[in-house]
Amino acid sequence: MTNQLPKATSYLVKDNGNVRVHTLVSPAPMFANATHIIELPEELILVDGQFFAQYGQEFRALADSLQKPITRFYITHDHPDHYLGMGDAFADVKVYALPEIIESLLKHAPKELQEKQQQMGQLIASKLALPTETVEPGEEMIGEIKFIFERVLNTESPSTLVIKLPDLGIVIAQDILYHDAHAFITGPVDGWKTELIQLREDEAYDIILPGHGKPADKSAIDNALIYLDKCIEIRSKTNDAEEYKQALLAAYPSYAAAKLIDIYSPILFGSQKH
Ligand SMILES: [Zn+2]
Repeated sequence: MTNQLPKATSYLVKDNGNVRVHTLVSPAPMFANATHIIELPEELILVDGQFFAQYGQEFRALADSLQKPITRFYITHDHPDHYLGMGDAFADVKVYALPEIIESLLKHAPKELQEKQQQMGQLIASKLALPTETVEPGEEMIGEIKFIFERVLNTESPSTLVIKLPDLGIVIAQDILYHDAHAFITGPVDGWKTELIQLREDEAYDIILPGHGKPADKSAIDNALIYLDKCIEIRSKTNDAEEYKQALLAAYPSYAAAKLIDIYSPILFGSQKH
């Protein structure tokens, strides 16, 4: 495969001697999508699948470099930047999601894939890797490490999976936290802010893995709360999507994933149903 886009960056988030956690982040203009590998002693657990096919492949190469089997791949929610890129790279892997996310993907993902292929051609994977396995909220021991699976409602998307690793002090929050990146906003953010505040207050965790941007500490939550307020403030002052975008770009000139504003603003400004 030829690389057509700038390469993603990988981070070793944590190494406690027994478990290592790795993150791959696509470049800032390409949504800064963050996907994660929990490297257990005998196996790998992966979380989220990128948007562009190339980053799906780079994520696979990172996993393969660890030389352990991928036993589970979790998709946290049904936005295309979290599953579209993985179809070719992870066709052989068992994919898990919440039941409502599986239902939504079965219904919408084939059309999403087709549309994006028409718009972007070879940058998009040739097929999907859809979840077949259900994850339910609760605790589970995998390779002697405790995983806590939570369903969180009414944040950046109607339903999303959050994975907590209490032994490591890590929360995989995905799109509940955008780190130095523009967030995907389609309506009121009160439920979203409530969840961010709860995350900030939970002293069992000090590393938060966002769905966009580099691995974060809790200061990123403060920034995200201010950012969401700023978006709502700008939105309240204009009914013009372009004006909204320009004001937001002026307020946050260095933030990644500016393209997301164009994608969500038709929904936020009511010209398109979500
Ligand atoms: Zn996302």
